[in-house]
Amino acid sequence: MVNREIGVVILGSTGSIGESTLAVIRENPGRFQVHGLSCESNLEAMVSQILEFSPQAVSVGCGKGEQLRKLLPPGKQDIEILEGLSGNKYLARFPQASVIVAAIVGAAGVEPVMAGIQAQKTIALANKESIVLAGSLLMAEAKKQGVKILPVDSEHNAIFQSLMGNRKEDLAHITLTASGGPFRNTPAEDFSKIEVQDALNHPNWNMGRKITIDSATMMNKCLEIIEAKWLFDLEPTQIKVLVHPQSIIHSMVTYKDGSTISQMGVPDMKTPIANCLGYPERIFSGSDALDLAAVGQLSFEAPDLQRFPTLQMAYDVLEIGEGAPAALNGANEVLVDLFLAEKISFLDIFQSLRRLVEELYVLKEKKDIIEIKTISDAIQADQWGREFVTNLFSK
Ligand code: NDP
Repeated sequence: MVNREIGVVILGSTGSIGESTLAVIRENPGRFQVHGLSCESNLEAMVSQILEFSPQAVSVGCGKGEQLRKLLPPGKQDIEILEGLSGNKYLARFPQASVIVAAIVGAAGVEPVMAGIQAQKTIALANKESIVLAGSLLMAEAKKQGVKILPVDSEHNAIFQSLMGNRKEDLAHITLTASGGPFRNTPAEDFSKIEVQDALNHPNWNMGRKITIDSATMMNKCLEIIEAKWLFDLEPTQIKVLVHPQSIIHSMVTYKDGSTISQMGVPDMKTPIANCLGYPERIFSGSDALDLAAVGQLSFEAPDLQRFPTLQMAYDVLEIGEGAPAALNGANEVLVDLFLAEKISFLDIFQSLRRLVEELYVLKEKKDIIEIKTISDAIQADQWGREFVTNLFSK
């Protein structure tokens, strides 16, 4: 009998997207075979995923392989256990897998994503930071290898779906919707009082900690503007943002005849994940169908660039070009960690990112921006951003 199961590897399987991906796989018995899983340190969750999905290989953080092996029962001792970056890259190239779900958080995902593309795997991309770091390189390599990068991010998945059956040259612009996060109605004078727990309290989405803070600062939308530029080959002026507090319309495309096509659904990442895993077919996601009568009203408002200066920064770093988006990403990752550790305030994030963008404009003037020719350049630019903001707080 021909084995028709689709081989899948999930990088970052213990996180919010990783768990939702496994939930979609559970909804479609016999359709997928999980060959590889990876995480950083959540060995308990990894053990239960191994017991349920029986992958051939897994990767955990550096130095944690032996610890994981000791937690596995005798019947699971034949599993291949790898560690760290090399482990993730190995899984991204795993021969029996045809789809790699990139669900690692942060810049750590970029090298495994590139490895997967080079090995001609279909990439279901959640890890937006990797495309912010190295969008030009990843898209060029995907084109060269004839590989699809399918967007898991709900906004980009909505754009992907709204583009289907239409000609790219007929597109006028896209509109990324944004929930506005927990501080949509918070007056500017109260931003200084925002604490970590307030920022972690997202009104619509249940996500990992880093993206939840990014949603609170609207840095998430900033990263998504950059992500959209690369995924859909758009000019920055073709990318607009609209605040839509109910998160039902996940984004939209406007064509030159004035038609706007959107994709809707309840705010549940299982829907875009199922869209990517099943593509070009539709598969069960386990998500509830949308009940617009129950939702009642959809509302919209323009984003407030005064209170959320991060949105403009996307256009700024795209204008500066080369390593500027990567530097912004690296800086943001450090600032989110510092904020979560209660070492800096919420407003410090905005102020530090603004200083970084000002510095990047100065470097552009001096023709001193790191050029992005290889993935190492992108990582170096990201690292430069990390050091820039770390130095702001070590003085
Ligand atoms: P989580 O923090 O919930 O999960 C992150 C996952 O990555 C975990 O499995 C974690 O392992 C693993 N991980 C972290 N660092 C490393 C590393 N260095 N090497 C290998 N694995 C690592 O994040 P999310 O699931 O929320 O987000 C994942 C990505 O998807 C992000 O880029 C995010 O922007 C994007 N995304 C998320 C959405 C969401 O709804 N959550 C929506 C759209 C995009 P461990 O558990 O052991 O720490």
